[in-house]
Amino acid sequence: MQIPYEYLGKVFVFLSILAFCATGLALLIGAYSFKKHRIIFPNFILFMLYLFYSPARWTCRRFRIRDTLVDDILIEIRNASMLERFIHTKERRVVLLPQCMRHPECKARCDPVHGYECKRCGKCDIAKICEAGDRYNFEIFVIPGGSFVKKIFKEYRPKACLGVACYNELAEDMQEVAFIPVQGVLLLKDGCFNTEANVEEIIQKMEMCDV
Ligand code: SF4
Repeated sequence: MQIPYEYLGKVFVFLSILAFCATGLALLIGAYSFKKHRIIFPNFILFMLYLFYSPARWTCRRFRIRDTLVDDILIEIRNASMLERFIHTKERRVVLLPQCMRHPECKARCDPVHGYECKRCGKCDIAKICEAGDRYNFEIFVIPGGSFVKKIFKEYRPKACLGVACYNELAEDMQEVAFIPVQGVLLLKDGCFNTEANVEEIIQKMEMCDV
């Protein structure tokens, strides 16, 4: 049987246009939701923007919009759609902090499964977050990389997770652990060391679970 190449080509073009339009629509609704803090069609936006993440960022650049808007939308929508479940999870809650938040003179030892064991010396904000973790019943992990997320999930089996990371990683990491209620906080200053996060926002998210 002869393959109808012309027909296949038309179907391909039609599907490409459809995907492009749907991604554009998801971007528009997502940007509106992000700006107004009103979440509309969260599942559609999450599905489209994760599936067409790179084309969505490319589209933003073509229209001279910062491409991190895509990550902002994904994080905002994921946070909003999982907030209720996150707040009502009362056990096995974890906070995952990137090791780059440590002070350059940090003396913490790195455990092969749990990551850096903070000594709470007070040289960086991690000490404050650990103290808040004790208060609100969160286990704090300071992790050197994504492979530690898998190890911690395997060993600790958390039921809720609050993650802190940079633009390059947060939206993707949240998607990977979205089988449990998850919240994300972006780093204020990223880089490879001495990074900063909004400590008040992190503590506030833990505090919300204490009601
Ligand atoms: S507070 Fe913890 S993580 Fe920060 S420098 Fe001290 S030991 Fe290291």
